[in-house]
Amino acid sequence: VEEKFDAIVVGAGPSGLAAGYTMAKAGMNVIIFERGDYPGSKNVMGGVLYRDATEELIPDFWEEAPVERYIVEQNIWVLDDDSVVTMGYQDDKFAEEPYNNFTVLRAKIDRWLANKVEEAGALLITETVVEDLLYDEDKVVGVQTGRKDGEVKADVVILAEGVNSLIGEQADLHPKIPPEHLAVAVKEIIALPKETIEARFNLNGDEGKTIELVGKATEGMMGTAFIYTNKKSLSIGVGAILSDMVDAEMNPNDLLEELKSHPAVQRLIKGGETKEYLAHLIPEGGYHGLPELYRDGLLVVGDAAMLVNGFHREGSNLAMLSGKFAGETAVDAKEAGDFSANKLSLYKDKLDDSFIMKDLYKYKDASTFLATNPHFLSLYPKLVNESLHEIMVVDGKPKQEKQRKIIKKVKDKRSYFGLAKDMFNLWRVMR
Ligand code: FAD
Repeated sequence: VEEKFDAIVVGAGPSGLAAGYTMAKAGMNVIIFERGDYPGSKNVMGGVLYRDATEELIPDFWEEAPVERYIVEQNIWVLDDDSVVTMGYQDDKFAEEPYNNFTVLRAKIDRWLANKVEEAGALLITETVVEDLLYDEDKVVGVQTGRKDGEVKADVVILAEGVNSLIGEQADLHPKIPPEHLAVAVKEIIALPKETIEARFNLNGDEGKTIELVGKATEGMMGTAFIYTNKKSLSIGVGAILSDMVDAEMNPNDLLEELKSHPAVQRLIKGGETKEYLAHLIPEGGYHGLPELYRDGLLVVGDAAMLVNGFHREGSNLAMLSGKFAGETAVDAKEAGDFSANKLSLYKDKLDDSFIMKDLYKYKDASTFLATNPHFLSLYPKLVNESLHEIMVVDGKPKQEKQRKIIKKVKDKRSYFGLAKDMFNLWRVMR
């Protein structure tokens, strides 16, 4: 490809596709490079797609997009060895248009979105790795691809290469990402008949359910597990911070096998057949781990920009919106004929004005807090389960005696002072 483009996008995940779509719709001449055979072949997502961000790109997308189920109920499970404390929220309004969130499979939804982007006029080139950026002094002027004569030039490059941001690292946008800032996750897609899923999860028709699992699910490490209902399969997975995993000498596959053997989980997946096994990293550096987001001729979006809110399992929506903001910024720069860092800083302003930076800022100290207070993820889930066990068992003992027993246990494990300190610190870090 010898021609010069208005914009090059590196990576056809949700962030790159959103950027490409926004620019192509505005009439820009856009080329997108994707190393996979097709968009959605290389990336992984648990599978909750957020309506709000997707709709910003394509209104009423659910009418045509290959979504699996619309989510009517979301649950949190606090696991112990053989028990589970559950909490959930179900809302019938989520069963009506415009719905709330959806479960999706990336291989289908990314391909669909990529078609939209091509229809809007962007050129998508798959099976092509971008190896480096091209510079004219300090200004980014294009990319070097792995193809023969693979130099491609453009006014602006949008880096949407995902968490494994090798180009970003090469360009010194960020140092090598430390293992504390990465979660490693594995996921299986387990096939089950549609009717079995609907009966087991108490769903009508295309309704869907999500379960996030903590405590024993991650062996007390910082992370979460998940079970999501698709049409004819379940997505089940677990992830934890890489450095925790190394310290505990665990691997994510063992965690997933443990999770699948938990009695409460077994009930949901039994008889299912594993169709796919996927592994991926998640960028968890948050606000303190943000790389440089723009330079002369360059914008960085999505996971490559560390835009993930792990506490709310939000990533695809931050990816799509940041891609849209970057696309709009590039359109603005094109109109002004100015692709300098100064002009492209509009992208950062858009991020700052949105929930993206506000949420990352809100949780800026939460990971460090949990890393230095690991009992939140190990001791407390256990205590909650054991206390509920005490209350639920009817065994002839007076309730006051049971209550005293629970209080003593809590006091023995974590004094009143420790408990009060924990609650105060938790409030401080999460407020
Ligand atoms: P990606 O989706 O990773 O896309 C990057 C693309 O760039 C890939 O297609 C890759 O092949 C391509 N690429 C990389 N390097 C090059 C190169 N040099 N040349 C050419 N192409 C390249 N988010 C949610 O919203 N909901 C969830 O339920 C959820 N669950 C998750 C569960 C797991 C197990 C994981 C791992 C993540 C989850 N996320 C979830 C996060 C979400 O998947 C990401 O935030 C989102 O995919 C980021 O999109 P992206 O476009 O920035 O990056």
